[in-house]
Amino acid sequence: MALVPLPFERLIKRLARLPGLGPRSAQRAALHLLTRPQELADILHILSEVGEQICVCGICGNLGMAERCHICADGVRDGGIICVVEGVDDLWALERSGGYAGVYHVLGGVVNALEGVGPDQLRMKELVARVEAGGVNEVILALGASVDGQTTGHLLAERLKPYGVVVSTLAKGMPVGAEVDYLDEGTLSLALAGRKRVA
Ligand SMILES: [Zn+2]
Repeated sequence: MALVPLPFERLIKRLARLPGLGPRSAQRAALHLLTRPQELADILHILSEVGEQICVCGICGNLGMAERCHICADGVRDGGIICVVEGVDDLWALERSGGYAGVYHVLGGVVNALEGVGPDQLRMKELVARVEAGGVNEVILALGASVDGQTTGHLLAERLKPYGVVVSTLAKGMPVGAEVDYLDEGTLSLALAGRKRVA
């Protein structure tokens, strides 16, 4: 007889595919749940609730509880500025900063040749369609500073060129509270290149 019962092994394998969980931590999580029936019941209940109630916004790709997320439905937000992010977690981070009053577009990742992610797997067409529909003045590319993030940004800028909108990227450089001698060379040279006049 197998040491680990088959359904349990299936659960561990499935959990191990979640981001941030390897086989060891998946096994720990599965054991933790299966030895605490109340906790397992709670999680099953929450998962089914989330599955039934949460939907993807048909405009920007954010998660919400209606066809339009609360940001797209908010008449006070500036629909003329679209901030493009890789994922919903980035959108949440920008919202928490409290410094942005435009709307968003969630791409669903960045191009990655090794993982077979091309422009067609991302919500690029949807972004171009939003710009094409009119009323958009600026598209802010808030993508990661990785090679893939930058490649995706260039692709998007190319695709948006015919529409004459301003395409901008987030500033790169000194993090708040950082010491100059702790910065890596790449960050430091970008901070120098993006310096601002103060007097
Ligand atoms: Zn939305």
